[in-house]
Amino acid sequence: MARKVLVLGEVRDGSLRNVSFEAVAAAKTIAEGGEVVGLLIGSSVSALANELIAYGADRVVTVEDEKLAVYTSDGYAQAVLAVVGEEQPEGLVFGHTALGKDLAPKLAAKLNAGLVSDATALEAVGGNIVFTRPIYSGKAFEKKIVTDGILFATIRPNNILPLEKDAARTGEVKAVSVPITDLRTIIKDVVRKTAAGVDLSEAKVIIAGGRGVKSEEGFKPLQELADVLGGAVGASRGACDAEYCDYSLQIGQTGKVVTPDLYIACGISGAIQHLAGMSNSKVIVAINKDPEANIFKVADYGIVGDLFEVVPLLTEEFKKLKV
Ligand code: FAD
Repeated sequence: MARKVLVLGEVRDGSLRNVSFEAVAAAKTIAEGGEVVGLLIGSSVSALANELIAYGADRVVTVEDEKLAVYTSDGYAQAVLAVVGEEQPEGLVFGHTALGKDLAPKLAAKLNAGLVSDATALEAVGGNIVFTRPIYSGKAFEKKIVTDGILFATIRPNNILPLEKDAARTGEVKAVSVPITDLRTIIKDVVRKTAAGVDLSEAKVIIAGGRGVKSEEGFKPLQELADVLGGAVGASRGACDAEYCDYSLQIGQTGKVVTPDLYIACGISGAIQHLAGMSNSKVIVAINKDPEANIFKVADYGIVGDLFEVVPLLTEEFKKLKV
């Protein structure tokens, strides 16, 4: 059953986030041969439209307004609703990012649509789209179909492969003018907590530290390893609570949910609340002094040892591989 699917391209610091391309791939599956329409919202985003097309969108609609320069759920909701009204898509796909998590439920309520949130996989089966999503903090997965109304889903970053980029693809780019009114939130300033670098939720490699790192200083060897591997540093809540690092690095049930290709857990015991945020990582390496630590139960590779000896050794070896 061919569908028209609208997919939100998420822009950060003037670039499209990787999850946007993954969302286009998901939209292609949902479209089942129908049309994938990219949507870009912001103050000057039209230059990014061709990149969305190169990754598989058939055409792109842009909504530009100075009031949309910084995300607000009010402003973006007005823009998306106007485009949904005009395009009448049968499907809607966002990334399951901070923005997607904030915006999608609000829009689902306004559109009277069910929302499949945090999908990690999807496939077309006999006219239905079957979504897979984790439940009970990642301990089980459920499969869901939407039987009524607009097919609305948010997809977890790093789980759905983007289509191969084809710079030769072309498609229409249409600017739509939407009057943005009555914003209840005005963003005056954005104060970033973490330094610029690899975004934790999209990182392919994460080096995470726990209470075993022992101090803020103790995170330095982890950062060095992350730098060599082009990855990001994350943390357990134990490390955040002990003030070794900022809460923006927290991974787990009440922190970020991540699915990198490689997750190296250093001095983390493996509490169930931590596992909820990282157990779907593709390869998990655990470094812990305690051979009985729970983290070894989910690890693909375990190193029983002192992280302050093991991590610098790994950094040295990876450096040699890079030369
Ligand atoms: P610990 O459990 O103290 O483990 C430290 C580990 O370091 C130990 O295994 C020890 O053997 C090892 N170690 C020590 N020194 C070294 C060394 N030199 N080299 C190698 N290994 C060493 N936690 C999260 O992480 N994320 C969450 O989102 C989260 N949400 C929560 C929500 C709720 C409602 C609750 C109740 C708890 C939550 N927690 C969360 C907390 C969680 O239960 C654990 O307390 C926390 O994950 C423990 O952090 P840790 O593994 O760093 O510390």
